[in-house]
Amino acid sequence: MGNSKEEIAKLKEAVNIEDVIGTYVELEYKLGGKCLGLCPFHDDSTPSMHVHTEKQIFKCFACNEGGDVIAFISKIKSCTFAEAVNLLRQEWCNGSTPPPQHIERREKAKAQKPPATPAQLAAMEASNVKFMRSMYGHHPALARIHEVKLDDHSWMDGNKYHPDCADITQAYVDFEVSQAGGTVPSAFKAMRGRIVFPIRDENNRLVAFAGRTTQTITDENRSYTPKYVNSQTSDLYNKSRTLYGLHLAGEPIRTETFAFLTEGYKDTLAMVAAGFKNTVAQCGAAFTDDQAELLKRYTKRVAVLMDADDRGREIAAAAIVVLHRHGMQTSELLLPPGEDPDSLFRRIGKRAFRSIVAESQLTGHLQALKESTGVDLANMCMEGSGNSELIRMNGEEMTDPLYDPEANGEEGNNESFSVRDPSECRSTPS
Ligand SMILES: [Zn+2]
Repeated sequence: MGNSKEEIAKLKEAVNIEDVIGTYVELEYKLGGKCLGLCPFHDDSTPSMHVHTEKQIFKCFACNEGGDVIAFISKIKSCTFAEAVNLLRQEWCNGSTPPPQHIERREKAKAQKPPATPAQLAAMEASNVKFMRSMYGHHPALARIHEVKLDDHSWMDGNKYHPDCADITQAYVDFEVSQAGGTVPSAFKAMRGRIVFPIRDENNRLVAFAGRTTQTITDENRSYTPKYVNSQTSDLYNKSRTLYGLHLAGEPIRTETFAFLTEGYKDTLAMVAAGFKNTVAQCGAAFTDDQAELLKRYTKRVAVLMDADDRGREIAAAAIVVLHRHGMQTSELLLPPGEDPDSLFRRIGKRAFRSIVAESQLTGHLQALKESTGVDLANMCMEGSGNSELIRMNGEEMTDPLYDPEANGEEGNNESFSVRDPSECRSTPS
């Protein structure tokens, strides 16, 4: 057997990294599928090595050692890549695979764990609060530090800021976004140095964190630098039952009578900064039935606004299926190709961003109307002869898509919401 790309891929598919590492290191399974162990490559006292079972990679958050199953073997056996490949083939691919005892252990741990008591839940939240207080920028008084940290472009994948972006900083302060320092409690080691988005449930309990790397993800570091590190699932936090931002969006959703649903944390913050405070984000790759039921307590109408790429369209389509299953009305909003709310806001500034969202809302509502009734009002409306009162979905009147949530505020006026050619709004490169 050779070592061509295909053959290596085949080998990696055939062996399970947890099984291999599990023969060298005692692995501990946490609820939610997270897998931890003492790192064999440095003097480790708290489990610092994470085994990512989905991606089939390992990573030590203390000594930075990481990689795939072949990297693990060549490191621990001090052997070459080819030798590691041979060893894996001999020991793991000829039918003599040792029984995966850890799977039994994991199942046992799951079955035996009683639900947390209220006191335990309070202790878990207290530990989260303590971590949050340890971070830079957790307090509004530190907004200036915040601004400096968060305006550092390096973690934004090279996105340049438009001058009309100041409100993003305020949204980051309101949502308590911080940066973890170099020294953090051991339970939060994985968050070290990351931009941290605290996640609150609808009752404002601090249930989890999502930490985004400040590094630009490249092909080289992709396998061992996860873009986001998330709190594990616990009795306090279940991402499939949580909507990011709902603790602040609840009232605005009721007032506006609909919600925007976005893909990520940064997208929600961009929307809020633009004045669309009735925005939440799904906390995982898929919108769930539990999230639909949660949202339904606030509204039955959802404007789905995912990234304008293939994956975003898929995520949106899947979310819409779930929302319809729960009897909710939807419209899908489309941004210019390749953009997400965060990138677009930063590139073109608040005013232009608001126009595009409004325009997209109109298009989305008309599309939904066309699909449900066959009536095509798009041309009429786009030519200016349309009347927003005519826009109804399933026989019910929709919120005026050009309604300006800040009409009474200093920022807003209807003029800023007029549909403009997006190209007019682009910032000129400096
Ligand atoms: Zn290590």
